[in-house]
Amino acid sequence: MTKNGSCISVRDLRVVFPNGHEALRSVSLDVGAGEFVCVIGRSGAGKSTLLRCINGLLRPTDGTVVVEDTTVTGASAVERRRLQRRVGFIFQEFNLVDRLSVMKNVLAGRLGHRPWLPSMLYYFSREDREIAFRSLERVNLAHKAQQRADSLSGGEKQRVAIARALTQNPVAVLADEPVASLDPELSWSVMSDLRRTAVETKIATLVNIHDINLARAFADRIVGVADGTIVFDGPPGDLDEEALTRVYKGSAAALALAGVRSALRQQAADDDLADGPARAADDTLTAAAAQDPDAMASGAVR
Ligand code: ADP
Repeated sequence: MTKNGSCISVRDLRVVFPNGHEALRSVSLDVGAGEFVCVIGRSGAGKSTLLRCINGLLRPTDGTVVVEDTTVTGASAVERRRLQRRVGFIFQEFNLVDRLSVMKNVLAGRLGHRPWLPSMLYYFSREDREIAFRSLERVNLAHKAQQRADSLSGGEKQRVAIARALTQNPVAVLADEPVASLDPELSWSVMSDLRRTAVETKIATLVNIHDINLARAFADRIVGVADGTIVFDGPPGDLDEEALTRVYKGSAAALALAGVRSALRQQAADDDLADGPARAADDTLTAAAAQDPDAMASGAVR
């Protein structure tokens, strides 16, 4: 627990990359144990940079990050590694070892907790195996423990990644676009697993997510980032059109890619286009697809 009682505490965080680009400007944020926070914003807004600072992968230019009792900013390399063992990181592309079994992939979450030699030889104690098995049970995949990771569907792979993060016995989980490679149905079930496990195990969770509909459906709280600044921080019910315009800087294409069809229709109506708002919204979706076909294919647009 940090001094102010939260699990993750970020104060006045600023990141300037060597090329002079200011990716984060004075970002402050607290996340409590068991709180499920979705971070939204346009591509390039600074969402991944924020997560990388929280788990110590990136050293900020200014500001402080405290996770539980560790001040990440200013920590030694040893302290940072110790912290990284307690912070689960979930990636868009799962990062599993394809040729290994589901169980061995999940046991990788124990690597940082064990002496390196037995770990290198994939020798894990009975206790480690029990922890890994329980994590697999939490995401309903215990029956696939001995199956090779490359034989799983995309949704199952991401649930294995969640189980691996849980096996770390984390205080916090950070997920960077965890469902961007999945179809809408699988995205829904993976977000359900992520939220349920976070709440049940009281893990502070920050999820960078493209799809506003999913953020609204699952988040306790939504944080909107634009140009490296937090421009919205509140419950999903408060994320109105005005807030969305701030987060997406009024870009119809960005709103379309985030799945905000209603906002588009309104915007098209405001523009008083001859063919009617629905047609204009669809035209914008088509234009957005041309700009970012991957995002469209991943189901970011409903
Ligand atoms: P998001 O996750 O919201 O898409 P990022 O945090 O990845 O955005 O990036 C924020 C901004 O910082 C982007 O403009 C990106 O191009 C830039 N950026 C990220 N990493 C570097 C780097 N190593 N050097 C320079 N600029 C970077």
